[in-house]
Amino acid sequence: MPERDAIVVGAGFTGLAAAVELADAGLDVLLLEARDRAGGKVESEFLPDGTRIDTGGQFFCRDMPQLMALIGEQGRAPVMTFSDGETVFRPPVSARQGYERWSEVDALRDRMIATDPDDPELAQLTVSDWVARQDVPADVARSFLRLVKGLWCRSPDEIAFTYLASNDRRITNTHSEMEMFLPGTMHAVVEELAAKLGDRLKLNAAVTRVDHSAGGVEVSTGGERFAAARLILAVPPVMIRRIAFAPVLPARLRRALAAWEAGCAIKVLVSYEKPFWRGLGLSGTVMWQEPQGLYACDASRGDHAGLVVFIGGPLARQWHGRPREELAGFIRSLLVDALGAEGGAFRDIRIRDWVDDPWSGGAYSDVIVDLEARDAEDILNEGLSPVHFASSELSPSYPGYVEGAIVAGRLAAGRVLRALRPAGA
Ligand SMILES: Cc1cc2nc3c(=O)[nH]c(=O)nc-3n(C[C@H](O)[C@H](O)[C@H](O)COP(=O)(O)OP(=O)(O)OC[C@H]3O[C@@H](n4cnc5c(N)ncnc54)[C@H](O)[C@@H]3O)c2cc1C
Repeated sequence: MPERDAIVVGAGFTGLAAAVELADAGLDVLLLEARDRAGGKVESEFLPDGTRIDTGGQFFCRDMPQLMALIGEQGRAPVMTFSDGETVFRPPVSARQGYERWSEVDALRDRMIATDPDDPELAQLTVSDWVARQDVPADVARSFLRLVKGLWCRSPDEIAFTYLASNDRRITNTHSEMEMFLPGTMHAVVEELAAKLGDRLKLNAAVTRVDHSAGGVEVSTGGERFAAARLILAVPPVMIRRIAFAPVLPARLRRALAAWEAGCAIKVLVSYEKPFWRGLGLSGTVMWQEPQGLYACDASRGDHAGLVVFIGGPLARQWHGRPREELAGFIRSLLVDALGAEGGAFRDIRIRDWVDDPWSGGAYSDVIVDLEARDAEDILNEGLSPVHFASSELSPSYPGYVEGAIVAGRLAAGRVLRALRPAGA
């Protein structure tokens, strides 16, 4: 007999949401996490002045119901991201030109979302192939590709078009996804979830091997082995590939896992004495057309003034591993160019390089690069009883976001509950 009802591997939002759901339903569950902390792609750091900042997932909006409810249950009050004032475009364009270009890019995004998912003509295209076939001005095409690099964090020459269209169809917010954030950090939400689990969460427990049969699973973490009736692997697809399975997974599952590559992202948090850009009539948002994959916004709250700069896609890959001082100098020159001399007068700069992260693989999420693997998500969501796969990537809503992770975790927990407690049993 398995010693437990369920094991969940990975204490990101997906694994935490799944484990809490199972524990609340009265199941005996164990959550195993490789790192010495919970949260996965959501993590935080303290600045010397005691301010706590999110170095991973941070922003959300009112269109994300599961996360909003969770934040409400925890009694947390979000702050609105400051957005009054002008956006700075680099290279410079007028506000009107910037708005018009943005509207055209949005229209192209809508065109992508409206494509027929079953159109065989689209199945063999990368995102770049599809954009090249659209009758749009060259600068709109370039801006769209820039957006893809910044949001999905890989080259549009690699990303499968049908995947991107399907993914974007599930990102349904009408308010900006950067609408708000938590002054006490998103990571504090994680910590409260983790505390609910108590000693059912085991840190520093990297799973290296899964033995599975119809009767249950045995999971190895170097020194220890744990058995359970059901297993949820709540880790991103690229990280599942690093786990050994006995017997080996069927070919269709191995193909589905091989279809993904991790995004490349670096998050930079720059602190100032005061949010000087507001006095200049600026929102703090900077959109770079060149270099591609760069975006900045105001993340000030209370008495902390700061900007977040995101570096995504090939540019993040290019900066990965280079000396921090060089990257800090690059950011400084960009912010001086965009916001004036004060942009270079940092009080503090924190650089969190997620490229090739040992336990996340990358950020913000994995993306499908195998053009043949159109059913990869369905195959993974189906799983291989008693093994279930779950991660934000596989969510039916907001894949790649914290909201998606909570949804994916709860869905996986539902599958486990239905398997262990069939209706009418
Ligand atoms: C820089 C950055 C900024 C982001 N910004 C936002 C944002 O503003 N808003 C938003 O909604 N989302 C944002 N995201 C995305 C969001 O954080 C993720 O979509 C979400 O947190 C993913 O959760 P997950 O549980 O699916 O995966 P993960 O968070 O990757 O969790 C997987 C867990 O599994 C563990 N693990 C991996 N392998 C093993 C193993 N073999 N054994 C045991 N444990 C293992 C990992 O350590 C990790 O804890 C951002 C992400 C990053 C990195």
